[in-house]
Amino acid sequence: MGKRPEEDLQGALMKNKKMAALYTVMSSVQNTYELFDVLNQIFNEIIKLFEVDFVTIYLVPTDDYEHEYFHTVGKKNYPPSEKKSYTKCISNYNKLAVKQEKRIVIDDLQKSEDVPLTLRRSNFKSLVSIPIDYQNTILGALTLTSCCPGRFGEQELAVLQTVCNQMGVIITNFVLLNVISEKHQILLAIINSMHEGLILLDGKGKIIYGNSLFFQMFHLEKVDGQKELFVFDLKQEKNSEVEVVLPYKELKERFVKREVFEYGQISVTYHEKTKYYLIQGFPVNTSKTFIGYGYVVRDITREKEVDNLKNSLLSTVSHELRSPLTTIYGNAESLLRKDVVWTKEEQGEFIEAIVEESKRLRKLIDELMDMSKIEAGVFKLDIHTVDMEKVIARVVKRFRNKFSENSFIVKIPPKRPYVLIDEQRIEQVLNNLLENAVKYSPHKKNIQIKVDCLKKDNLLKVGVIDQGIGIASQDQRAIFKRFYRLENPHYIQIKGSGVGLFIAKGIIENHGGTLWVESKLGQGSEFYFTVPCQEVLKSEEERK
Ligand code: ADP
Repeated sequence: MGKRPEEDLQGALMKNKKMAALYTVMSSVQNTYELFDVLNQIFNEIIKLFEVDFVTIYLVPTDDYEHEYFHTVGKKNYPPSEKKSYTKCISNYNKLAVKQEKRIVIDDLQKSEDVPLTLRRSNFKSLVSIPIDYQNTILGALTLTSCCPGRFGEQELAVLQTVCNQMGVIITNFVLLNVISEKHQILLAIINSMHEGLILLDGKGKIIYGNSLFFQMFHLEKVDGQKELFVFDLKQEKNSEVEVVLPYKELKERFVKREVFEYGQISVTYHEKTKYYLIQGFPVNTSKTFIGYGYVVRDITREKEVDNLKNSLLSTVSHELRSPLTTIYGNAESLLRKDVVWTKEEQGEFIEAIVEESKRLRKLIDELMDMSKIEAGVFKLDIHTVDMEKVIARVVKRFRNKFSENSFIVKIPPKRPYVLIDEQRIEQVLNNLLENAVKYSPHKKNIQIKVDCLKKDNLLKVGVIDQGIGIASQDQRAIFKRFYRLENPHYIQIKGSGVGLFIAKGIIENHGGTLWVESKLGQGSEFYFTVPCQEVLKSEEERK
């Protein structure tokens, strides 16, 4: 018996639906990267094509995906609580289909006694739950509910089965993609959290990957991530203000030989700050193929500074200790000689020299102690309300007595606020600045001490101004570093340990002030510092 024309027509329509459904499934995957979005697209199409009202998917937890996954799309917008309770009820069919590993079809929900009340009272009439599997593993199930009874005939079920098969493939791919991207994210997070710069180059020297720290280290922030970049081109890319020599040529040689390579240290100077880096290269291989060449750049500035400090400390201490000790030892030995009779005057001279040199030794030891306290952040101040004029007068008096060749001109405003300072420590700063002014002014001997009130900032500004040898602008920051002494062949005989300004800066900064220099080589230097005034306290008291 031949088929009736309506049956032929229905068959053709069904075939069309099947094609459309498959097409939807396939195309939604191509354009989306989120499972959520893909499911939304597919479910909306299913609702249209199969004239159903509610589609719910349930995915079982796996090793990679620890939680149960539900996703529902309704034909109309159900209120959230209603949607939730339907999803819950319907998902039980999903779970049952997974458990029984077979399709469940209910043609009339109202007539079936084991259907929960929520569903029986709803508008839903028919339901189908189909397990979704991929390569004999059940991933979950898809349930469709319709407001028409008997919606799911043999033909619909056949199409839906094809859709579910296709979804099995999609879901597996998505889970894999998720796992891979999660692992990739973890790797990236590790690489980007490293305290080392890292780049990976391919066999031709093209940068395959570079972590952000690497680019920061060489001040290459402007490098466009999308751009094809060869390590040999970094030279052109780098900021023209940066001074750095990257081991480009050596790297190239190592590429060819594919061997571990330790370039050693390089330094990068930017805005007068120098950083030191250790570079170590290594070939990257899988068990069979050579992928490229990586290199790790470690910031060793701190170690280098500690190393430099140790060397400076050793050379200063040994030099600065040896010369007074030699004098003390020589004079004491002379005094003890039994074969020579010294006059009272000569004895006095020997003793005076011993005392002077002992003072110098003590000063050096005190300075080293201060330096380490400042360094460790444990420098303590004994703050009082003081008239700066008295401190200056005391220091200047001593200097006038000691250095009678110099003239010390003091300019202090008659009306000035009291300052909140540790008197002894500020005296120490003034001593250092005046000693330097004397030491580094071999010809023009006028030294000015000038005080100004910075009312707006509630600070008192003190200046020590000389007309001596001056300091070149490129050295003006460095002189405040520990053990930093300018090497001027003409003044090589001027003694000093190079820690005075470092300590002075530490003392002033601990007061909440600033110490700086303004100078021109050959024309003299002006050292200024600020300290807080008492004004704030006073006015607060007045207000009370
Ligand atoms: P020291 O004077 O013991 O060497 P300081 O820390 O006080 O150490 O000074 C550091 C360096 O700064 C000095 O060695 C000197 O080169 C330079 N300097 C300091 N004060 C002056 C100044 N008034 N004029 C010129 N150079 C100065």
